[in-house]
Amino acid sequence: MNVPYWIKSAEGRTYDALNEDHTTDYLVIGGGITGVTCLYLLTKSGLDATLIDANRIGYGTTGRNTGKATVQQGYIYSNIEKRYGIEKAREYYEINVRAIQFIEDVSRECGIDCQFKRLPAYLFTQDEASLGKLKREYEICQKLGMDCSYETQIPIPLDVLGAIKMNHQAQFHPKRFVDGLAQKAAEQKGRIYENTRVVDFQPGKECVIRLENGKTITARHVIIASHYPCYDGKGFYFARLKPERSYIVAVEMEEFPEAHFINIEDPTISLRHIPEEKLLLISGENHKVGHDDDDHYQKLTDIVKRVFSKYEVKYQWSAQDYIPHDEVPYAGYLNSDYKNIYVGTGYRKWGLTNSIAAALIIHDLIKGQESPYEELYSHLRVKDIVSLNFLKENADMAYQWLAGKLTLGESELPMEKGVGAIVNVNGKRCGYYKDEADNIYLVDITCPHMGCELKWNSQEKSWDCPCHGSRFDYKGNVLEGPAEYGLNGYREAPNKVNPQIK
Ligand SMILES: Cc1cc2nc3c(=O)[nH]c(=O)nc-3n(C[C@H](O)[C@H](O)[C@H](O)COP(=O)(O)OP(=O)(O)OC[C@H]3O[C@@H](n4cnc5c(N)ncnc54)[C@H](O)[C@@H]3O)c2cc1C
Repeated sequence: MNVPYWIKSAEGRTYDALNEDHTTDYLVIGGGITGVTCLYLLTKSGLDATLIDANRIGYGTTGRNTGKATVQQGYIYSNIEKRYGIEKAREYYEINVRAIQFIEDVSRECGIDCQFKRLPAYLFTQDEASLGKLKREYEICQKLGMDCSYETQIPIPLDVLGAIKMNHQAQFHPKRFVDGLAQKAAEQKGRIYENTRVVDFQPGKECVIRLENGKTITARHVIIASHYPCYDGKGFYFARLKPERSYIVAVEMEEFPEAHFINIEDPTISLRHIPEEKLLLISGENHKVGHDDDDHYQKLTDIVKRVFSKYEVKYQWSAQDYIPHDEVPYAGYLNSDYKNIYVGTGYRKWGLTNSIAAALIIHDLIKGQESPYEELYSHLRVKDIVSLNFLKENADMAYQWLAGKLTLGESELPMEKGVGAIVNVNGKRCGYYKDEADNIYLVDITCPHMGCELKWNSQEKSWDCPCHGSRFDYKGNVLEGPAEYGLNGYREAPNKVNPQIK
């Protein structure tokens, strides 16, 4: 897997794995920005709390994004206004403003050197067909009283048809921020365990969580901050969330305007400078996980070459996020049955602020206070599933499930090293990979989450699920997504499918 700049430049301290049974009042599952912010708020309120992560703090999508903290998130306000009315659009704006302020205040108070910087953000279009939508978005932004202006030029060499310049937005080093926040939460008596994966979840007054190593955690309250919920609890998140991957390349660039940029049309072009390292990040090439195996890094590099005449790539990496059908994240109770299980997910690639919004909502609910934002972020809203997107995405999941089963696989094994393929060995369909040392890996490629058939991702050398976004390395280890178990080898029993819906 390609290592992102954020992780390379902030190794972070390590925490032990949990190797014994454990009891806690509050358990946070997931050590990304959602989970760490929850742990920080809970321990600041003097509550007894533990956080566990299957991997390491900040090594998930939190360490793999573009590090923009902004209320400007595409067509979001006109979209929310259309579905839910102007007051809900105002609530979304307000809590995202609070989230940026939270990052600024907390990093200052806790002495976290996360390169937080205020600057303007531009949302632009080069596409005649998108101009009307951009103008509509600007109208709603004005109605909400945002500090923004309509522009016909932007300070980078791109010809645009129109742009919204949003003042007082921000950028920061997301990995350093979560590392510092985790450290602070630990000082506030929060317990943190890394390399500690949840594989089973029994809800109840006291939830019982089983770990991969067989140990259990008993917790009165659980916050699921595992990006894709590791336990669904009949919230039907598997049908509500679309997994989408994007790519980032970083090129050396000394001078760049103090601003960040994103267009509204497809294909996405998102730009953000890291002045401390003289690096420009360019991100885009979005596609549904397991749906498009192309040379996305090269395509991004071609854009940088064309626009900035730069081509020496210093870093490249990819990551994924989950998109709700109505584009509003889910934060609050996981379902209506249990008032002691909470979730934060579905951030649509704007999770650096929305994760903090989620943590603030969850913290309010835990403290018995009402949250003015609970209704908007609740999974109980129905307009997310009464939508064309919902039907389209779920029809695609069914198609992928069936089409995968009907693909037979090659009988000839590929000769080249570093190449993965679906092959047929003695009538058994499996995933094949030969590494540089001529070791051959044959794995069962039925996804252990809900039984979809995995596809090969040649960019990251992984097996990716086109239905719900679980990913595995070529040896079969879980990389990310809802799957809790890895892939079994050719000579082992078939994979155990464990949907965790219950
Ligand atoms: C290319 C890209 C660029 C982006 N850029 C921006 C941006 O500029 N601004 C912005 O606001 N947002 C951006 N985002 C979105 C943002 O990065 C994410 O929404 C956010 O980081 C999600 O944080 P999280 O804590 O929910 O998840 P993660 O950071 O993924 O953390 C989840 C953690 O849960 C752990 N976990 C998972 N399953 C288990 C289990 N079974 N047991 C124990 N632990 C488990 C994982 O190991 C992981 O550490 C971007 C996203 C992408 C893909």
